[in-house]
Amino acid sequence: MTAVAKIVHTNPEVEAEPDLTDGFHLVIDALKLNGIETIYGVPGIPITDLGRMAQAEGMRVISFRHEQHAGNAAAIAGFLTRKPGICLTVSAPGFLNGLTALANATTNCFPMILISGSSEREIVDLQQGDYEEMDQLAIAKPLCKAAFRVLHAADIGIGVARAIRAACSGRPGGVYLDLPAKLFSQVLDAEAGLKSLVKVIDPAPAQRPAPEAIERALAVLKAARRPLIVLGKGAAYAQADDAIRALVETSGIPYVPMSMAKGLLPDTHPLSAGAARSTALKDSDVVLLIGARLNWLLSHGKGKSWGEPGSTKFIQIDIEPREMDSNVEIVAPVVGDIASCVQALLDGMGRGWQQPPADWIATLNAKREANIAKMAPKLMSNASPMTFHAALGALRTIVKERPDAILVNEGANTLDLARGIIDMYQPRKRLDVGTWGIMGIGMGFAVAAAVETGKPVLCVEGDSAFGFSGMEVETICRYGLPVCIVVFNNNGIYRGTDTDPTGRDPATTVFVPDSRYDRMMEAFGGTGYHVTTPDELTRAVNATMDSGRPALINAVIDPAAGSESGNIGSLNPQSGIKKKK
Ligand code: ADP
Ligand code: MG
Repeated sequence: MTAVAKIVHTNPEVEAEPDLTDGFHLVIDALKLNGIETIYGVPGIPITDLGRMAQAEGMRVISFRHEQHAGNAAAIAGFLTRKPGICLTVSAPGFLNGLTALANATTNCFPMILISGSSEREIVDLQQGDYEEMDQLAIAKPLCKAAFRVLHAADIGIGVARAIRAACSGRPGGVYLDLPAKLFSQVLDAEAGLKSLVKVIDPAPAQRPAPEAIERALAVLKAARRPLIVLGKGAAYAQADDAIRALVETSGIPYVPMSMAKGLLPDTHPLSAGAARSTALKDSDVVLLIGARLNWLLSHGKGKSWGEPGSTKFIQIDIEPREMDSNVEIVAPVVGDIASCVQALLDGMGRGWQQPPADWIATLNAKREANIAKMAPKLMSNASPMTFHAALGALRTIVKERPDAILVNEGANTLDLARGIIDMYQPRKRLDVGTWGIMGIGMGFAVAAAVETGKPVLCVEGDSAFGFSGMEVETICRYGLPVCIVVFNNNGIYRGTDTDPTGRDPATTVFVPDSRYDRMMEAFGGTGYHVTTPDELTRAVNATMDSGRPALINAVIDPAAGSESGNIGSLNPQSGIKKKK
């Protein structure tokens, strides 16, 4: 154990006993000892003082308006930094609000710790009706990677250490840490408290792949005629950027990035087959998956997206052994951490490596150029109200000029089209709805992206998606964060043109027409813009990003422009009953 600089907290009222510590201080000291400097949360019983004291002890404590957004912030902080993001909530309802984010973090393999205060065990377990009574540990367990409760202040050090190790090691994920109210005021001798803390050594140890797994993978790759690399957000998380780039360039194998892996290599890289994705998946004969699961986002590795049945062989790099064969046979499983596995493949390629056949590269290049050319005129339209394409064409240029900005993106059409249109140039700059395709991550992700990186953040939000976390514009203004929110306002979900067939109410998918989201931002002292053309949009975003101050741009989009559920309309069940004429 290394020394802790300061552990005795002198409070004028306990001056007579200066060598005591308590639960509050031990939680803070345990986090700080492990290099955790930021807490995202919402104050209230019983953790209000924990937040205050953490701030007084020099931690950054970012208070939100709703726990779900604090939780999303913690989760994405984990993705960006490889350290568990901390979300702090009150008991029962606050805990439940944070749980959505914890489950989402676990699903996305982001390291995060949800710390919630809870009611008294004795009363909860006898169901005697305590204030905000709830058996939080039991409820959290199935929704996260691990869940722990600490009952004695002397165990806080171990509890925090276990939570950190569970969140970061192997496949990262969400961890729940239950801290009953009584724990915080438990007093301990300061010396004993200091000794009880644990600094976690090597929380995410390297897991080197077996040499035979590497040989097997290389043999399959060598025999390929039409090889493809798929980069997933695990590859972005691993921060093995140089090795991954070297693997692509040395092998000469084209790659397709999953959405949050965009920018690991610039989307304009000659080996990027992103703009020829359908052809690349359908026609490839060997696919090397790097930190990407064969879930719905990759059509489970089978079906018409992947060509003739059995025509594709998969090699998979993943830290989680049980991921192998989850959907289809993996002919060459490579279990280990991405940095070690990619380096081992590179070493194994050596000098004699043969580049893939030129006709495969030429096919993908031709497809890519054709798709880019087809898209180009749509991006240049100056019609008002704007189409999605025209507005995104403007934002695409801005991201090209400001490649270190972080793009947060959610919505239906706003998401699908932005993913395809906006090129990314640097790793971990695109944060979006992830594995679940969830709505509501926007403002939480934006806050943490700004806090953790200090870079400007551009949020591209559907009007519906924005509504889930919109109140956090107050949080963004309160902390003066460099966040530029663009709301693509098409008056509704998917489209703003539906009607109620009975004529009684608004349709279920429409909002107040011509809403002025920009005025929400003005209410809290940020800048609001209302724009109707791509030129106005460009000027407003550039002015905001130059200022480093919060702004919300209400971008008027043609209400008739969107399609049902964006790209995934096929997932929306339709009634099997045909209407009688
Ligand atoms: P995407 O949605 O971008 O395809 P997924 O979330 O489906 O990405 O897949 C990410 C995968 O990366 C998970 O299976 C996870 O186990 C794996 N992973 C995360 N971090 C590492 C790492 N450091 N080394 C190896 N695999 C990792
Ligand atoms: Mg909309």
